[in-house]
Amino acid sequence: IVRSADELVGDLNPPQAEAVQYRGPALLIGAGAGSGKTRVLTRRIAYILSQGGAWPSQILAITFTNKAAAEMRERLSALIGPVAQRMWVSTFHSACVRILRRDGKAIGLDSGFSIYDTADCERLVKLIAADLNIDVKRYTPRAILSRISDYKNNLEDWRTKLREQAPDYRPGQRGYRIGNPGNAEALYAIVYAEYQHRLAAANAVDFDDLIGRTVELLRADPNVAAYYRHKFRFILVDEYQDTNHAQYVLVRELAGVDSPDGQQAWITVVGDSDQSIYAFRGADIRNIQDFEQDFPNAKTIMLEQNYRSTQTILDAANAVIANNEGRKPKKLWTALGKGAPITGYAADNAQQEAAWIAGEIARLHAEEGTAYSDMAIMYRANAQSRSLEEALINAGLPYQLVGGTRFYERREIKDAIAYLQAIVNSADDVNMRRILNVPKRGLGARAEAIVAGYAEANAIPFYGAIERLDQIGDVPTRTANQLRGFRDLMAGLRAFAADPANKPSDIVAEVLSKSGLLDEMKRSEDPQDASRVENLSQLQSVAAEFEQNTPDATLAGFLETTALVADSDQLPSEGEDSGKVTLMTLHTAKGLEYPVVFLTGMEQGTFPHSRAMEDASELAEERRLAYVGITRAKRRLYVTRAAVRAQWGQANEMMPSQFLDEIPDGLIDWKRREAGVERMRAGWQGGFGDDDDEFGGWGDDDFGGGTTFGGSAYGSSSSYGSGSRSSFGGSSYGSGSSYGSGSRS
Ligand code: ATP
Ligand code: MG
Repeated sequence: IVRSADELVGDLNPPQAEAVQYRGPALLIGAGAGSGKTRVLTRRIAYILSQGGAWPSQILAITFTNKAAAEMRERLSALIGPVAQRMWVSTFHSACVRILRRDGKAIGLDSGFSIYDTADCERLVKLIAADLNIDVKRYTPRAILSRISDYKNNLEDWRTKLREQAPDYRPGQRGYRIGNPGNAEALYAIVYAEYQHRLAAANAVDFDDLIGRTVELLRADPNVAAYYRHKFRFILVDEYQDTNHAQYVLVRELAGVDSPDGQQAWITVVGDSDQSIYAFRGADIRNIQDFEQDFPNAKTIMLEQNYRSTQTILDAANAVIANNEGRKPKKLWTALGKGAPITGYAADNAQQEAAWIAGEIARLHAEEGTAYSDMAIMYRANAQSRSLEEALINAGLPYQLVGGTRFYERREIKDAIAYLQAIVNSADDVNMRRILNVPKRGLGARAEAIVAGYAEANAIPFYGAIERLDQIGDVPTRTANQLRGFRDLMAGLRAFAADPANKPSDIVAEVLSKSGLLDEMKRSEDPQDASRVENLSQLQSVAAEFEQNTPDATLAGFLETTALVADSDQLPSEGEDSGKVTLMTLHTAKGLEYPVVFLTGMEQGTFPHSRAMEDASELAEERRLAYVGITRAKRRLYVTRAAVRAQWGQANEMMPSQFLDEIPDGLIDWKRREAGVERMRAGWQGGFGDDDDEFGGWGDDDFGGGTTFGGSAYGSSSSYGSGSRSSFGGSSYGSGSSYGSGSRS
């Protein structure tokens, strides 16, 4: 099915249609929320194909999440047919994996390279810190990693850093002791260099490297660069406001903007500088602001009609964002009419806030027939989900939580994946060392140190040292026997995996049984282990599903999907009714829309976040996050707050969010304006329970009056049964080639 041009632009407004059809080397579609940017981007691809402007293989489309990529491919399939399935529609990270797997050899990366997640990276930094004698109380692995990530997002090379800060250090140097240098910069430079050195030795990359090393590759190898410059005739990037410097350079390199041959690919970027919310991950708003200067002959098309929200919701969003300085004012309007007023509710505490929301959801469902899946609850930080979940469970309402501890971060899953990773890439020391004594087989820290010492002395991988066990000498007999057992286990598993007859799911099964992982848990009395067994069986199902959706499924390919999975991938795809209310952070909600949205925790210190309140630029970013939140709503928006919220196990009095004040008064219909604390201050007795709250479904006793509730309900870390949480279904994972990472981009 190839659609005609009329079909592809017929239902678009004039600037949208212009953007779809524009011919030129650089196009910026800048526009406010819900104005059809993503829709236009998709149509533009279909249009280019329908006009014979390019083959499907000549188009590179970048989305911010896997899920967005899958949806875009889905829509393209509907517009242009099954060729869409083979197109490069993915996140930056997935596209880079594909490039590095194919061509990474040129910069020393074997195609079977491992992708380390945050936990793996922390392990690696801890190993380095121990070897270099770094005080991890003063320089936490997290802080070090965040610094390394900053360097990478800005394409600051470790060699340069080292030359500037610690020219005497050689990566891989043995017996070096940093101690506590007065100069933290030198320490960071040394760890950065050592970290890259060990990643390279392990044939591994971290998430930031996926971008940075691809740029390195394109700059280092003219043939590879030329290949991609000729391959891609169109590069299109959604959510461009959240690209960092490395991603910006990547786009330039792929298009060949600075190459001697001149720009080859035409670039289209789409974004809204008011929705830039990833500065903490290096996103640089200037990428979009400077687009016209950065790309020769650039054209900008502004979209001003919003198709998503009512005028009331847009007025609120516009009023809030207007408080940010140095932005170009936008004229966003909608033809959808004024709509219902925003509903406000001030609760005495987080529990009451949650209970009120649950009551309102039940009411909307019963009285107005609103589907649960049409409602979403959003919050600033994951920790806020707890009271909301409790309220929904108490009310018997179905919900799905997006985010939180993800499947692939669970200990048992990470263990199983570590085996698979170690099978694919035996140089992967972090994963090899992780599984050495998992399940317990008498190979403790002493044994690990003996092997690591030999490996380091001979500059070989950890597993290489085990293979040469007989040469190590001075190994206690028992330890030697155990190491031999481990070596045989791994050799057996690698042989099994190398047999083309064995599919990824077979290999998972083999690993689970031969390693003893499954047995150890089945024997355990710990009730938690029962659910771990379930998770492991789930992993096998995920692998089986991956095989069904992927021609020529390989173990390495499967590992990729598990490495790049993101929070947003847990969401059901468009058109699929989950039958559940969705709970998620505001960051995860980017690009999405729901008929009914609850913005919760609208308090100073919660949202805006306490860290941001002292800093003008961070406050501006929080405000953009508020703008994102408000503009997710199509028909109805709720804003709620609690007068008291538990933080760090302490009950704190919370002032209303300044963002609430920034919404014009007439737009909000307050069901309850003042909460317990303020009401008591105002001389009212008796807490709440007055008839100003419309849904008086609870008595005073449920919540305790005023501020006098006990702290015990707060700050406890206990979690509830996984049964009540519909956290994920196997189907969200490993679905075909639709991997990539939103929250990590
Ligand atoms: P965001 O800034 O949140 O990413 P966006 O600018 O990408 O939003 P889309 O998600 O593409 O906007 O569109 C918002 C909604 O408006 C979608 O439901 C989309 O289908 C609808 N829409 C966009 N353009 C039109 C149009 N011309 N006619 C009808 N509906 C449209
Ligand atoms: Mg969009």
